[in-house]
Amino acid sequence: MAATSLRTEVTELLSGLIRLDTTNPPGNETIAAEYLRAYLEAAGLECELIARSPERANLVTRIKGTGDGPSLLLLGHTDVVLADPSEWQVPPFSGEVRDGEIWGRGALDMKSQVAAGAVAIASLAREGFRPSGDLIFAATADEENGVGFGLEWLCEAHPDAVRADFCVNEGAGERLQFGDDVYYVCSSAEKKSSPFTIRALGRSGHASMPGIADNALVKAAVLIQRIAEFKPEPQIQQEVETFLRTVLGEVPSAATAVELARAVDPVAADLIEPLLSATFSPTMITASQKRNVIPAVSEVTVDCRLLPGQTTEHVEPMIRAVLGGDLAYELEWLESKGGTRSSLDTPLWEAVESFVADTEPGARAVPTCVAGFTDSHWLREAFGTVAYGFFPARTMPPEVAATLIHSADERIPVDDLELGLEWLRHAARTVCA
Ligand SMILES: [Zn+2]
Repeated sequence: MAATSLRTEVTELLSGLIRLDTTNPPGNETIAAEYLRAYLEAAGLECELIARSPERANLVTRIKGTGDGPSLLLLGHTDVVLADPSEWQVPPFSGEVRDGEIWGRGALDMKSQVAAGAVAIASLAREGFRPSGDLIFAATADEENGVGFGLEWLCEAHPDAVRADFCVNEGAGERLQFGDDVYYVCSSAEKKSSPFTIRALGRSGHASMPGIADNALVKAAVLIQRIAEFKPEPQIQQEVETFLRTVLGEVPSAATAVELARAVDPVAADLIEPLLSATFSPTMITASQKRNVIPAVSEVTVDCRLLPGQTTEHVEPMIRAVLGGDLAYELEWLESKGGTRSSLDTPLWEAVESFVADTEPGARAVPTCVAGFTDSHWLREAFGTVAYGFFPARTMPPEVAATLIHSADERIPVDDLELGLEWLRHAARTVCA
């Protein structure tokens, strides 16, 4: 009885949440915060709406701990990215339930996890759950655009509202099957986004007489080639080490890891390859504004992702060595973001493992480091929170989900939504009990 009604409850809550257009920019997350407040207050939970700007509220609620046990934060963002209705089979803000799936923008990223978090804490409150440490639920604004209205601002201006020992956020939860072996992926670390520019320097001149000038664009082409071919020495960090030990039964050398993972499954190789070193992808270039003027300057922007723990000071000498000393250029780092990790030796990791084992006998949890970044890094930096990205999915294949996130026809199977809800209830009962 309880299980069926929670399934219906979370489905309806998610549909309603999708129907609120919180496209960011501009966000307008207050409508989602108020909608969740009405739902949570009906379960007897007191809610706080905390906003830097009235239309961009964050919602926080908690079941107060009775002792000094660890606190757990169930975190999610309520804003979504733009949806173009002409690309969709259903209106993107319909929240329609069709053939066992809930459709609409945010169904995967991440109103599903927000709805599941709200139902998890509401249902536990109704059941009289008395945690030892605080169980906290936060539905925050402004993750997709990240301009200071959401978790970043809460950590700084209202730290007591969101400080927690442990946090479950977005980031992973995919079910992988390699042969007969099943794994659920949990992200415990994030690479650091550290973009930089290379400014190739030359001398301008009339394009009809190339000999009198020194073409910066041609120099940039050479520098692009050098940085694109740069493959730093691979290294195995802790997430990949645990992944390989779980999947291969051993930890091979960094040089052979990708090859051995590929022998198990190409997906395993694709998963670990970008996690063995920093990556460098030149993505943008500017040069002359006129066809007949040879540019004196050409600027290349490189998307660079460092491993957790690596710093720009650490990789810059390698980059300069690769670019060489024969061409004049300047290197400038842009703003770095993310690059944090949480330990795997924690009660939250044990909760992930026990949930996976209960859900699918024989299945195992494996950690990963995500190439992008989520709001988890704000918590790790501000409070040393152990934050994982985990919202398990076993009905929708990960390769299908990957094509729907930030894209058309985003949807989630009700079965996966219910599984995610069970996971969050399990995490609350095991970690802060
Ligand atoms: Zn997201």
